[in-house]
Order: sequence, then structure tokens, then C-alpha cells
Amino acid sequence: MLDMGFIRNNQELVRVTAERKRVDFPLEELLEKDDKRRRLLRETEDLRAQRNALTREVESQLRHGNRAEAEEFKAQVRAIGGRLAETETGLAEAESRVKELLLLAPNPVSADTPIGASDKDNMELRRCGEPTVFDFAVRDHVELGELHGMIDIPRGVKAGGARSYTLKGDGLYLHLAVQRLAIDVLTERGFTVMDVPSIVRPETLERTGFFPGGMDQTYELAGENRWLAGTSEVPLVSLYSDEVIDVTEPVRLGGLSVCFRREVGSAGRDVRGLYRVHQFSKIEQVVLCEGDPQVSEAMLQEILGNAEHILQLLELPYRVVAVCTGDMSLKTHKQYDIETWMPGRGAYGETHSASNLLDFQARRSNIRYQGPDGKLRYCHTLNNTAAATPRLLIPLLENHQREDGSIYIPQALRKYLDGRELLSAPA
Ligand code: AMP
Repeated sequence: MLDMGFIRNNQELVRVTAERKRVDFPLEELLEKDDKRRRLLRETEDLRAQRNALTREVESQLRHGNRAEAEEFKAQVRAIGGRLAETETGLAEAESRVKELLLLAPNPVSADTPIGASDKDNMELRRCGEPTVFDFAVRDHVELGELHGMIDIPRGVKAGGARSYTLKGDGLYLHLAVQRLAIDVLTERGFTVMDVPSIVRPETLERTGFFPGGMDQTYELAGENRWLAGTSEVPLVSLYSDEVIDVTEPVRLGGLSVCFRREVGSAGRDVRGLYRVHQFSKIEQVVLCEGDPQVSEAMLQEILGNAEHILQLLELPYRVVAVCTGDMSLKTHKQYDIETWMPGRGAYGETHSASNLLDFQARRSNIRYQGPDGKLRYCHTLNNTAAATPRLLIPLLENHQREDGSIYIPQALRKYLDGRELLSAPA
């Protein structure tokens, strides 16, 4: 959420941001409603002051035994009471509309964010490794999964409907191994990793910036007033809502959760295999730090570095892209995606997404810290994927396949897989 004063003083910036992020933001209505709110607030306060003065007059006249004068003042108090009720109702309506509209205001982007309409305009910053070259016909992860009896999509769909899957045997062990690797890397790097709820209250989704915009992407639990979070960023940030926290050292959190996404609007896209599913597991990084752009920028580089380290441990080729305005969400100030090479697609596919939200989320969630001058300030919040699987199994299986269908296990994963160096192809 942006501060109303900031919006007033930076109208052109907010207008351009909405346009570049391609979000519908009724700035004119907000300014108009806020003018009305301020006018009604002044009128309400004036009327309250007048009513209090008149009430004191009534008491004073009564004390002096002037009943007739007291009655006259009482009549004036009643008249003001009627007008006050009207302005109070108008004020409550204007306040509530301003609050609603403020939730739709987009966070301005950093100066180095590329301007563009869609993910096609994202800018490649660097590559680590190059796309794997094979001298045999590659199998994609679905074929490899079937060959090894690790992935059963038809039976998953039988139970869960479209975009469902089943991981079994080595498929399940690999899925758990990459999560375990991510947990261990984050723990070594000072993160407190925890298992957090996927079932969340609607307020948490609004206060972390996912609602109202992302309501259609979120599953609601019928009759429960609870929703299924698409990422543990929601519960992790919400653990600290309405708190004043110590950010002398940035608060580094890791969340393990099952994520649920409706994927509305993606009909016909990425329908094969494990790329775009309704339910997946993710280890997420979340950081809460001082509200200082230099500190949060350093943290963005840190959480990006953590994700890159995990991919390097998995011996996978990837590239880092700067995400453009048109591919960013309302809440994001600056974003990098990591795309990992997926031979079956013959393309890079997004596996990680790192964002700095500045104080956008903390303002909505009311998470503050005490600055050196003793004043309370809003924190900055950031997030990035550490490992999202099964999507991460796609590059893992496909890049590490051998001609006979066996799959090489990177050194860093072996300790979670009984020391195995290879998943041999079934005879
Ligand atoms: P996001 O929170 O949307 O930035 O997504 C973070 C990561 O979660 C992505 O980079 C993917 O690795 C993974 N992911 C997101 N949506 C899906 C999905 N529908 N199916 C599988 N993995 C997903």
C-alpha cells in the first residue's frame, strides 16, 4: 500500500506506474474521494467542537438556574447532532472507499527496472553455464519419469483433475532431496526455516498484497472464510503483522509449504508434465529489514545469490533476468527471475522469482521497527524462491539424463539419496 500523502505528491509517477504495470488504478476517483474525506473530516470535527461548546453552555445555564436558556441551547445541540450524524456517515463511507482504492495503488518500480509490456521484454543479465548439449535424442521429464516409474500423470489426473500429478519412488525422493538441500543451504546462511500454514485468513492475503487483485487465482475453502495460500510468503510475513520488530540484523525466514494456485487464464499453456500444476511444494525465502533502500537492495542480491547457489549445487545451467514493468505485480518494486535450462522445452523456464517490495507489504501489514531516532518506521520486505518442486525436477531430470535413460545425481544431492551417484535406467 502507498501512503496517501505520497500519492498526492507524486500523481504523475503513480499514473505512469499503473500504466507501465498494466494495472487498472482509478487515481482520479481516489483523489476525489480523499478530498471529500478530508472535507467531511473537517466538517465533522467543527460540528463536534460546536456541539461540545453548546453542551457546556447547557450545563452552565442549568447551573445558574436558567432553564429557558438551557432549553434553547439544547435545541441547538439537537440540530447539530442531526447534521453531525450525516457528516459522520458520509465520512465513514469516504474513508472506507479511500481504503479500498488505496489497496489498488501500484508500487513504483526501481530506476533500473526495464520498461516493457510482457515477459518477452524481460532483460537477460547473465548466464551461469550454457544450455546442455546432447549428442543423442533427449527425453523430456515426462518420458524420463515414466521410464523410471517416478512420475505418473494420468493417475494423478484421475484423482485430482487437470494439472495434477503423482510422484513415486525415486521421484518422491528427488522431490524431498531438493527441498532438503534448500532447507540446509538456507539454515547454513542464517535463515530460520519453518513449516507454516497453507490455510490462511483472507486478511493475510490482503495485507501481503495478494488481494483483492489475485482473488481469482486463489482457492477458497467453502464456508470457512479461509483460503489456500499460493506461497508461504503470505503466512511468513503475516507472522509479524501489527508488531514492532528488531531489524538490527535483517530477519531471515524460510518457509516450507504446499502451494495452491488456480492458474486462471493459463488454459492451454504448459499443459504437458510438471511445469504448471495446481499444487506444488516450495521452500521460500522472506526477509524483513530496515526501511532503507540500500539495505533492502543488498538483501535482494543476497536472496538472489542463495537461489543461484542452490542451482549451482544442482549443477544446472540458468540465467538471471531483470523483470520488466508489464510482467510485475502491483506490490513489486524490483524483481529478478531465474530461468533454468529445460532441454525438453528447448528453452529456459522460470524456476525462481526474487522481489524487493520496499515498505509496500509492511505498510499494509503494519510491521514496524524503531529507527535510531526512536521513531517507528515501516520495514522493507523481500522474497525469493529457494526451491519449488516439482518444477525444479524438470531441469534436474532433463539436464542430467544419459543416453541410456539413466540420470546423474549431482554431488550435493547424494547425501539425501543414500549416496547414489546415478539413477540407473530400468533394464
Ligand atoms: P512465484 O511465487 O509466482 O514467483 O513463483 C515462484 C516459483 O514457484 C516459480 O518460479 C516456479 O518455480 C514455482 N511455481 C509457480 N507457479 C507454479 C505452478 N503453477 N506449478 C509449478 N510450479 C510453480
